[in-house]
Amino acid sequence: MNGVLLMYPPGKMYQRGEDRAQCNVEESVSVEMRACNDLGYAAAILREKGYDVLLRDYQTEKKDAEYVKNEILAFRPKMIVISVTYGTVVKDLEYARGILSFYECLIVLKGAAFFDPEPKILHELDLEGIRCMIGGEMSFIIGPLADCLLRGEGNLAQIPGISWYENGELKKTDFCTFHENVDELPFPARDLMNNTLYKRPDTGEPMATIQISYGCPSGCIYCLTPMLSGRKVRFRSIENIFSEIEECYYKYHIRHFFFKADTFTIDRERAIGLCDRIIHSPLCGKISFTVNSRTDTLSPQLCAKLKKAGCFMVAVGFESGSDETLRRIGKHADTEKSREAMRMLREAGLPVYGFFMVGFPWETEADIRNTFDFALRLRPDYVEIHTAMPYYGTGLYTECEKLNTIEGSSFGFDYIAPNTKGTAYVDLARIERLKKQFLLRFHSDPAFLRRIAVQCASEPSKLGHYLYYGVRLLKNIVRNHSGKGRESR
Ligand code: SF4
Repeated sequence: MNGVLLMYPPGKMYQRGEDRAQCNVEESVSVEMRACNDLGYAAAILREKGYDVLLRDYQTEKKDAEYVKNEILAFRPKMIVISVTYGTVVKDLEYARGILSFYECLIVLKGAAFFDPEPKILHELDLEGIRCMIGGEMSFIIGPLADCLLRGEGNLAQIPGISWYENGELKKTDFCTFHENVDELPFPARDLMNNTLYKRPDTGEPMATIQISYGCPSGCIYCLTPMLSGRKVRFRSIENIFSEIEECYYKYHIRHFFFKADTFTIDRERAIGLCDRIIHSPLCGKISFTVNSRTDTLSPQLCAKLKKAGCFMVAVGFESGSDETLRRIGKHADTEKSREAMRMLREAGLPVYGFFMVGFPWETEADIRNTFDFALRLRPDYVEIHTAMPYYGTGLYTECEKLNTIEGSSFGFDYIAPNTKGTAYVDLARIERLKKQFLLRFHSDPAFLRRIAVQCASEPSKLGHYLYYGVRLLKNIVRNHSGKGRESR
């Protein structure tokens, strides 16, 4: 039997399914692990082709290596696909070599680190024993790749978005082709996913991820999306999306959703169209969802529709309190747009999860403090602070190189602990201290505490979840992030 094991390996929890952000979950403020849709799509495609598939999110299940070894020996897959992130790839490779020490099979890695890789960069990783690396969109690659490696059909050179070593030489195919007809994909194989692992943060109820579109026309210099998914947005049709929502609701009894798009509101008319489809359906009032947005893509009408359709939270990338930094990072928005977006969301009664980023190589301490002061004035309901992380291939990497702020390899690092010295003017440890001071100030503000208390009074079941995030925040504030890296991953 041609069995395929698709896995998130044991270890720290990272958003492995999100090549763009690859967020370190436990060291974030209130991010929860999202569903492993990348594996779910791959499983559905492989199953349609007649492969025997086992899908496992060992990191979120908190399974150890011994448990995984027993499953591998029982299932005996011909191929194991491991979803990796920049932050975990070094540990993931150690883990993959560990598998090969007791079991012979083909190991394939999937992750943003393998998008059109330069040989000199891949040399930083020990890829011995790895059969192939997927850097393009796995959903469109896994089928032909399995057919080639397991059934001998076609050859690797014809499959876009992959690389591999042959006689010590790195071979790679075309990384510029993006599959247009995204409605062709089957829905993720949720019968193989443990849907109870992925939760709405404030209630702990199961939350499914529904892919809305692929790609982003913007070019924020720190972001991997334009490179990984292209600058042309490829949308699923509203009916195709709605059918998947119905399947989740009626078949899997999931009522909460994360509508995943690089920017959900990038096309207002489509976003309104999906809201209307929900509003005029029997599911209206029975489901809730969260979306993300840029500050320049909202309108009062869209905010009102989102609220009516059941949106419980909008995540917004405000990023900076400096117009100059917003210009330099290619955000195509300014601080006035941020204030305007906040006003629209507030008026519609939509809670806001604000994302900010500090530590750009040109920033002084005054710039960083200015962003924190801006965040305090904007007052989103929840907040996340990232430190600028120069991933290979991004404009930020080039800017950091120019100002000589990069420290070593990008592998093993993330937005919580980047591979930089800090900025040209502020060291990383100082940025970390400023960040912690801000987080303490934000979360101890009486208005914030009052709002949480009011929510818990009206829905007591939320209390446990808020306490969990409060403890996690305190642990992260006490923990020393600066100077961390691959050794701790
Ligand atoms: S708006 Fe910027 S940060 Fe958001 S997905 Fe597009 S390029 Fe990335």
